[in-house]
Amino acid sequence: MVGGDAPIVVQSMTNTDTADEVATAVQVANLARAGSEIVRITVNNEESAEAVPRIRDRLQSMGLDVPLVGDFHFNGHKLLTRYPACAEALAKYRINPGNVGRGARRDTQFAEMIEIACRYKKPVRIGVNWGSLDQDLLARMLDDNAALAVPRELPEVMKEALIVSALGSAERAEQLGLGHDRIVISCKLSGVQDLIAVYRDLAGRCDYPLHLGLTEAGMGSKGIVASSAALAVLLQEGIGDTIRISLTPEPGGDRTREVVVAQELLQTMGLRAFTPLVAACPGCGRTTSTVFQELADDIQNYVRSRMPEWRKHYVGVEEMSLAVMGCVVNGPGESKHANIGISLPGTGERPVAPVYEDGEKTVTLKGDNIAAEFRDIIERYVVRTYAAPAERKTGKAG
Ligand code: SF4
Repeated sequence: MVGGDAPIVVQSMTNTDTADEVATAVQVANLARAGSEIVRITVNNEESAEAVPRIRDRLQSMGLDVPLVGDFHFNGHKLLTRYPACAEALAKYRINPGNVGRGARRDTQFAEMIEIACRYKKPVRIGVNWGSLDQDLLARMLDDNAALAVPRELPEVMKEALIVSALGSAERAEQLGLGHDRIVISCKLSGVQDLIAVYRDLAGRCDYPLHLGLTEAGMGSKGIVASSAALAVLLQEGIGDTIRISLTPEPGGDRTREVVVAQELLQTMGLRAFTPLVAACPGCGRTTSTVFQELADDIQNYVRSRMPEWRKHYVGVEEMSLAVMGCVVNGPGESKHANIGISLPGTGERPVAPVYEDGEKTVTLKGDNIAAEFRDIIERYVVRTYAAPAERKTGKAG
C-alpha cells in the first residue's frame, strides 16, 4: 500500500546485471532483508526480461515476496509485449517518459506499456529524471518561453518541463485506462534546492502518491547528506509516499547501505521506526580511549542483527532507545532519557559503568566484559518489556 495515510515506504534498486538471475535474486534478498519494502530492477534487454520470473521464483523459494519494480527505458514496450511472464511477475513498471521513444513513436510505445499495465492490473511509476527529460517537450516549452514578453530563466523552464512531463504522462495513462490509483509520480533532480522546489510544486498540483529521491546523489557522506537534506525538508512538509536514497556504493561496498540510510532518515525524523537506534556522544578530551566508540558500534550492530528475530516476538521493540555515553558529564543524564543507557568512565574517572533502565540505575558494570554484559541486559529488557505475556513468563528470546 503506497500513498494516503500508509506509512512511507523504503525502496532500493539493484546494481547487478538482471540477466544474472542468481546474483540479482541474492542482492534483492539482501536488500529486502535489510528492510527494503520494494526493490527495483533494471529490465533492459531480452535476457533480463526472461530472467525476471525466475528471479521472482527464487525469491519466493527463499520466503521473500518483496515487490519487484521493472525499470524500463527505450525498449520497455517490446520487452513487456514479448515477455508476458515478465510483465506478470513484476509488481510495478517504472516508465520514464523521456526514454519511451521519439516523435510519433513515443505515443504508441507509451500506450503499449500502459495497455500492458492495464491488462495485468499493475501500477506504474511515471518516473521523470532531470538527466533524461523529454527533449521534444522541452524544445516546445523553450519555444513558448522565448515568445513571452518576459521569458523565464532556463532552469525554471526545465523544472516546469519535468512537472509537465510527469503530469501529462499520468493524464495520458489515465485516458488509456490506467486507474488514477495505480499511478505514482517521481521527478528526480540532482540539486537539493531544485528537488525541493519541484516536489513542492508537484504536491500542490496533483494527488498522486509521490516517490522521492535525489538522483545522482553521489558517494559516501556527500550522498547521504544531500539526500537527507532534500528529503527531510519535503517529508517534514508531508510530501512523499515512498523514498529511495540513491547512493553510489564504494567499490565493493554494501548496496544495503542505501536501505539503512533511508530507514534512519525516517526513524530519526520520528516518521517510522525500524530498529532500535543508539544515541552516543561524540567523545572529547575526556575520553582518551576508543572503548565507548567500540561499544556504541558493537551495540548498534548487535541490535540491528537481532531485529529479524526480535520483530517476530516483540511488538514495538523497534521503538526502544539506547544510549552509550563517554563520561560522567552527560552520560548519566542522557542514559536516563533512553530506555537503556550506559555511561562509561572517562579519563581519570572510576572504572565503572552505571547502567540505567527506564531512567533508574539498575546495575554498575566493570571489568573487561562490559559489552557482553550490556548485551545481556538489553536482551532481558526486550523480553521483559516487549514480549507477549506468555513469552515473558518463559523468558523465551527466540
Ligand atoms: S559525554 Fe563526556 S565524553 Fe561524551 S562528549 Fe560529553 S563530555 Fe565528552
